[in-house]
Amino acid sequence: MSKFLSKAFAALEPYTPGEQPQPGARPVIKLNTNENPYPPAPAVRQLLQQLAEHPAGQLRLYSDPEAGDLRRAVADFYNLQQEQVFVGNGSDEVLAFAFLAYGKGGRVAFPDVTYAFYSVWAALFGVEARVVPLDADFNIQPADYLEDAAETVVLANPNAITGKNLPLAALEQILQVHTESMVIVDEAYVDFGGKSAAALLPKYENLLVVQTLSKSRSLAGARVGIALGQPAVIADLNTIKFSFNPYNLNRISQALAAAAVRDEAYFAECCQKIKASRQLVTKGLQGLGFQVLPSLANFVLARHQLVDGQQLYQQLKQRDILVRWFDEPRIRDFVRISIGTQADMQRLLAAVAEILQEVR
Ligand code: PMP
Repeated sequence: MSKFLSKAFAALEPYTPGEQPQPGARPVIKLNTNENPYPPAPAVRQLLQQLAEHPAGQLRLYSDPEAGDLRRAVADFYNLQQEQVFVGNGSDEVLAFAFLAYGKGGRVAFPDVTYAFYSVWAALFGVEARVVPLDADFNIQPADYLEDAAETVVLANPNAITGKNLPLAALEQILQVHTESMVIVDEAYVDFGGKSAAALLPKYENLLVVQTLSKSRSLAGARVGIALGQPAVIADLNTIKFSFNPYNLNRISQALAAAAVRDEAYFAECCQKIKASRQLVTKGLQGLGFQVLPSLANFVLARHQLVDGQQLYQQLKQRDILVRWFDEPRIRDFVRISIGTQADMQRLLAAVAEILQEVR
């Protein structure tokens, strides 16, 4: 840290992303950042080829600050109006804008075990955070979020790290109470079996649904996130965006994302394959004596009595399999395993079986 950094950020603890192996490093089975094991839709590949044939022309110009074509594609997919759609540079940016728009000067509540970025944004933007423990079975209890109608609520659904899903009826209980504040539902993992709260948008002016193309549409590297809300809410996010970076989403990513959203059949097929792999790895891990939290996401959180989380993470890494271990009080015993192809899952299960044999 230099002596010039604003005092406001002296104690800021930034988010630590999962490890990304450097180009040229030994190949690994990468199950640590919940990426999709399948390539993006064929239309995305075609578009990239076209761009390669006319590379520089398009880049001379700024991207569309309205991201009109992409927003239309998303609106069509969800049967919404374009005015109900916002897009950003990854859902990380969209969520950061939402924290700023709805949190600043107030308080935001979120669970103790969830996406670690929420507490970082709260600290960055000077938002008071109320951290609410999940129950003993790692469930969100709606009753914990009903006390203060003016407190913003942020929930990942399915929840990050646990994969557990909150039914929409429970979410509605929270929405009905928060008449004076926004309820932000982070649906990064919803396409792997959850139900989107987007269906509730006509009923609730205080609902903001945030999604990403990083997971179910295999575009993590393109950095595209979306938000769905009533037009007034989307206008709020635009106020923040146009006060920060009007061209937040680059030209290439806008085009690739629109193509990915329009290929509904490929999307459905990939999600189906991930769900099948999730079932396979869940059963396999359970067969080896693991506790696996029931997940509707593209990852599972699992623990075993004989091997602690850090040890398992390290032993798998030695076998060129990357999973994620969080040095956090309630989940230290677990590892989080992203869902890969069936072949990836078979290799993971074989490696885990070998590790367990060694410790027995
Ligand atoms: N929300 C949750 C719950 C996540 O796990 C992630 C991925 N790390 C994000 C948001 C951000 O995703 P992206 O910025 O790639 O859209």
